[in-house]
Amino acid sequence: YTQAKALVFSTFGEPRDVLRLHTHSISPSLPPGVAVIRALAAPVNPADVNTVQGTYGSKPDFSRGQLALGTAEPAAVPGNEGCFEVVSVSSGVKLRRGDWVIPAGSGFGTFRTHALVENADAALLRVGGDKGHEGLTAAQVATVSVNPCSAWRMLRDYVDLIGLSVASFSRGEDGGGAWFIQNGANSGVGRAAVQLGRLWGLRSINVVRERSTAEETAALKAELAALGATVVVTEAEFLDRAFGARLRDEWTRGGRDPVMLGLNCVGGKSAAAVVRSLSARGTMVTYGGMSRQSFPFPAGPQIFKRLRFEGFWLSEWNRENTAEKRKTVDAIIELMRDGKFQMAPVQEVRWDWDTEEQVLKDAVQGTLEGFRSGKGLFTF
Ligand code: NDP
Repeated sequence: YTQAKALVFSTFGEPRDVLRLHTHSISPSLPPGVAVIRALAAPVNPADVNTVQGTYGSKPDFSRGQLALGTAEPAAVPGNEGCFEVVSVSSGVKLRRGDWVIPAGSGFGTFRTHALVENADAALLRVGGDKGHEGLTAAQVATVSVNPCSAWRMLRDYVDLIGLSVASFSRGEDGGGAWFIQNGANSGVGRAAVQLGRLWGLRSINVVRERSTAEETAALKAELAALGATVVVTEAEFLDRAFGARLRDEWTRGGRDPVMLGLNCVGGKSAAAVVRSLSARGTMVTYGGMSRQSFPFPAGPQIFKRLRFEGFWLSEWNRENTAEKRKTVDAIIELMRDGKFQMAPVQEVRWDWDTEEQVLKDAVQGTLEGFRSGKGLFTF
């Protein structure tokens, strides 16, 4: 028998109040199609906290958790992404012992030391094709499927920015690539968008919140510039009345280089400023609401600039695009392996057999606090 531990919850609430550490064992006699996997790393994303709070767009299936884990009451395991190693497989499974895998869809429940996975070949994506996980770290693999995938899809699926760049270059314009603008630019998604944008010849305007000192703010700006950000401004600069003129005159040649895509992670005033910054027929894609504030949909710009407002939700995109998901993950993994894509900073939280429940709960609870040096990553 394999001894295993999982964070579980049975009612919605704050992670520190409702999560508990559950111990169970996994039987060695497996029905066909099953893999037993061991966790190597799992990040704590904002959506994981929202799921525990009960405010997320999809609710966990508590009864399934009870069956799988043998908890006394219905329970679910939080966590959407992670890197696992295959420990054993039953008949009919193509995955091999030692393979590194990630969950194929959302809602897997990754905050656990081990998992028994039914229908394993469909439920898990094997990492890295023929080369396997050579040259990759578990932390890189564990953080590939949510943030970088979201950034990739949002830059490609709403506005043909690459096509716009190509067209502007072929007209001989000194364009330097199509622009997009984003707030929450230092988030995992934001950093991924900066890097993919640079790889694809796009230019980006990136908004971050001021740090507590000018030096720290400058360091954060420099960090994003090093990743490939074209322009980095603070939220104060972004909300300043002068920003519109700077956008026009300093960066977009009097507005002749349009800003056709805005990515909104934050909401509130910052989102309203993204709307103001978009060019005619531009699109704003909202994917997060970190400030927990709504923003006005002003009629004037919507009508006269014919703007488009979209929402992106990776979980649904995953369900509707399983083949494309696999390709996107593979492509990002190859970029990581080639040293062309850096994972976002993390704060590692070691999860050993003896790690106390409180340490694990605190790591989940801390996720929505702002101004962090990196998101929590359980390492096993
Ligand atoms: P990270 O944990 O990497 O970063 C969090 C970001 O939010 C930081 O930029 C942080 O800025 C900012 N932030 C935190 N609190 C506030 C606040 N009160 N006001 C303004 N900004 C704040 O996050 P992820 O990249 O993992 O996720 C970012 C957002 O994207 C989340 O809302 C997440 O749910 C969402 N998301 C949505 C997806 C979808 O499918 N729709 C997929 C992936 C992510 P600072 O450093 O200044 O605190």
